[in-house]
Amino acid sequence: MASTTQHADVVIVGTGHGGAQAAIALRQHGHEGSILMIGRDNAPPYERPPLSKEYLAGDKGFERIMIRPEKFWAEKDIALRLGAGVTAIDPARHSLTLSDGGNVTYRKLIWSGGGDPRRLPVPGAVLRQVFYVRDKSDADAMMQALTDGARRAVVIGGGYIGLEAAAVLRKLGCEVTLVEMLPRLLARVAGEELSTFYADEHRRQGVDVRLNTGVHAVLGEDQGKVTGVRLDNGEELPCDMVVVGIGIVPAVGPLIAAGAAGSNGVDVDFCCRTTLDDVYAIGDCAAHANAFADNAVIRLESVQNAHDMAATVAKAIMGEKDPYHALPWFWSNQYDLKLQTAGLSLGFDQTVLRGDPAMRKFTVVYLKAGKPIAFDCVGTMKDYVQARKLLESGVGRIDPALLADPEVALKDLI
Ligand code: FAD
Repeated sequence: MASTTQHADVVIVGTGHGGAQAAIALRQHGHEGSILMIGRDNAPPYERPPLSKEYLAGDKGFERIMIRPEKFWAEKDIALRLGAGVTAIDPARHSLTLSDGGNVTYRKLIWSGGGDPRRLPVPGAVLRQVFYVRDKSDADAMMQALTDGARRAVVIGGGYIGLEAAAVLRKLGCEVTLVEMLPRLLARVAGEELSTFYADEHRRQGVDVRLNTGVHAVLGEDQGKVTGVRLDNGEELPCDMVVVGIGIVPAVGPLIAAGAAGSNGVDVDFCCRTTLDDVYAIGDCAAHANAFADNAVIRLESVQNAHDMAATVAKAIMGEKDPYHALPWFWSNQYDLKLQTAGLSLGFDQTVLRGDPAMRKFTVVYLKAGKPIAFDCVGTMKDYVQARKLLESGVGRIDPALLADPEVALKDLI
């Protein structure tokens, strides 16, 4: 139990994508002061996307998903305090209270706490074989259940994490039922074309996809073992594991309790400053006005956003003002399909299909008032690369017939 007070010039809370990248960027920009990263996780910084992909499938071990080799942090004089959560902030004293009993003071604080998985609000959700996918320990627990013989899975939530987990579980030979409350998959982030394509693909791969279906309870034995899931319509799906992917709740409790503004996460300005002096926030938990969403205040849950905000904040701390203005991009791997997304489809009023989903190679273009705002590219890497350039160029209205023609290169429309 540490009870002494430690000081660092820059303290970073969170050892995930944003936190690790902020430390790296500070050193890259010549920061010579002390840097301390504090994280609840016991493991050194690692990538999260593989947790529902190659790591879960057993195709990549932990060494291959570490953000940097373990010795890197010491070489760059970046201190790690792992297995310690920040429970309170005293903004006037520039001081933090930690769950291990210690205190830490800072000159500048970067908060990159990400989010906690939204819990399934039904009876039985606390049973042992109900898994979430956020941390390495979550993926490890799921892998252990598979090793122990779990073969029938119910996946709750038809967003990217649920779909990726379903794809891996199928690959590992499990029977999988996927339950989604809304009428289509990926409803929060994609248009009908993509939803239909992925529903068809998962069904083709043997997943029993149930749309418009709510969950009433997780059923279990007295010893706490999962035996099934009862749906809202009364049907019971027998299973021996449940995977829940229904979104995250931004991990900003101590920041908000200390007086930082924010309702969905914590509010930041174009340099990632919160409303507390010398406190910045980045990544999944940072609510910001995004230039690619008509300056609507949003949170983005992506590696791109965490990395680019980390660069912005490092520059801001080094006295270089470089407002956050990065094009959002994202990817998802399911089976042998690679989806790459450029831009934000928020508020689109038209879609254009480019290519043929039946060929498993196509692009969905999202338009708002005639102007392309986002591209979902399935197996169309060339479109994705050119779409990024197109969006970054601040393109105006484009004839949908040209966008729909795969023979017309997107770069020629800039
Ligand atoms: P995180 O990486 O989550 O790091 C936050 C860290 O802060 C955590 O380690 C947490 O324990 C710690 N923490 C929180 N509160 C405290 C506290 N009070 N004290 C100390 N530590 C604290 N994005 C993509 O772009 N493409 C993908 O394919 C993709 N796939 C994903 C798959 C999975 C399974 C998951 C979980 C996410 C995926 N993402 C993907 C999203 C991406 O991983 C996140 O957007 C990114 O990790 C955000 O970085 P972050 O630093 O904001 O948060």
